[in-house]
Amino acid sequence: MAKKIPFEMVLEKAHGYKADMTKFLRDMIAIPSESCDEEKVVLRIKEEMLKVGFDKVDIDPMGNVLGYIGHGPHLIAMDAHIDTVGIGNIKNWTFDPYEGMEDDEIIGGRGTSDQEGGMASMVYAGKIIKDLGLEDQYTLMVTGTVQEEDCDGLCWQYIIEQSKIRPEFVVSTEPTDCQIYRGQRGRMEIRIDVQGVSCHGSAPERGDNAIFKMGPILNELKELSGHLGNDEFLGKGTLTVSEIFFTSPSRCAVADSCAVSIDRRLTWGETWEGALDEIRALPAVKAAKAEVSMYNYDRPAYTGLVYPTECYFPTWKCEEDHFTVKTLTRAYEGLFNKKPTVDKWTFSTNGVSIMGRHGIPVVGFGPGKEPEAHAPNEKTWKAHLVTCAAMYAAIPLAYMEEIGE
Ligand SMILES: [Zn+2]
Repeated sequence: MAKKIPFEMVLEKAHGYKADMTKFLRDMIAIPSESCDEEKVVLRIKEEMLKVGFDKVDIDPMGNVLGYIGHGPHLIAMDAHIDTVGIGNIKNWTFDPYEGMEDDEIIGGRGTSDQEGGMASMVYAGKIIKDLGLEDQYTLMVTGTVQEEDCDGLCWQYIIEQSKIRPEFVVSTEPTDCQIYRGQRGRMEIRIDVQGVSCHGSAPERGDNAIFKMGPILNELKELSGHLGNDEFLGKGTLTVSEIFFTSPSRCAVADSCAVSIDRRLTWGETWEGALDEIRALPAVKAAKAEVSMYNYDRPAYTGLVYPTECYFPTWKCEEDHFTVKTLTRAYEGLFNKKPTVDKWTFSTNGVSIMGRHGIPVVGFGPGKEPEAHAPNEKTWKAHLVTCAAMYAAIPLAYMEEIGE
């Protein structure tokens, strides 16, 4: 039998650590940590994990920080990516994105919602587990992962494929506005290349204009974007042209190459092969003999490690009655005495590799809100940090109850 979950004491503790979580989050915010430059924030997180009493803290060769609580046979993981995007145009901010700001209710700064707030709540959930002796037949692994904003899921490809770590499920602490999220659309980054032949612009008939050849392809892509897959829960597949490139010897010449990048979101049932094939089948793509391919990612981590992957991020979802959703619902109802809202992310998360590629169940519950992500004046809510710390402390025992241990 699992230990009984002392919901009231967990909540009381979580409230008691509001100031500590705020300070820790503001410390992380003050350390710029764009993708591939996360070392300083990783070391700050390790320090806090050790301070609150984690049993073990590792930094792996990619630079992910992995903190452990407990020694039981059931491995449960909770994940926050701790890289952030840049700040964009500073003129759009009303406060310094790294110095941040706070009042009684909110904390502002780059990374507050997306998603170092999740890390603050997880570390103090670890402290609550230690304070109340809630360790049981589980080991809780808390991960602070790198490069997510650059290549979502790559960190977990490494953790699963190279470190051979396979938790029974993973709680993603990306922002969910304190709701339970059980899926997201996948995505891929596609490129179309068209070749031409340059010549003097005064006699274009001598050449073969690659930009003109791309024109009808763009029209057909726009048409195609209205006829992609649909799923009741995850919504429609989408396609948009995100970049365009060309080469030409001069402004007075015929362009000899043109390429576009496509952001393709994949709904349930859509595959990467299918997404490439439907573009290859477009008449204008065939006529131009265009090459349709997937991008690759091979940017080195801050440690120097290179772990190449194709830019394909598979769709994933858990069913409504999945044990992960039931486990989080059990913890939520015990703590807050009301039913949680269950929904999905619009954006992408590390779930693409954890569940999408490797079939390890993922479920989301995080502080902050999705619309804050990548926006100026990004903020999160102190009350969310408290709610999430309580949830993360209660989830492992709720899982033990759910599986009858
Ligand atoms: Zn994020």
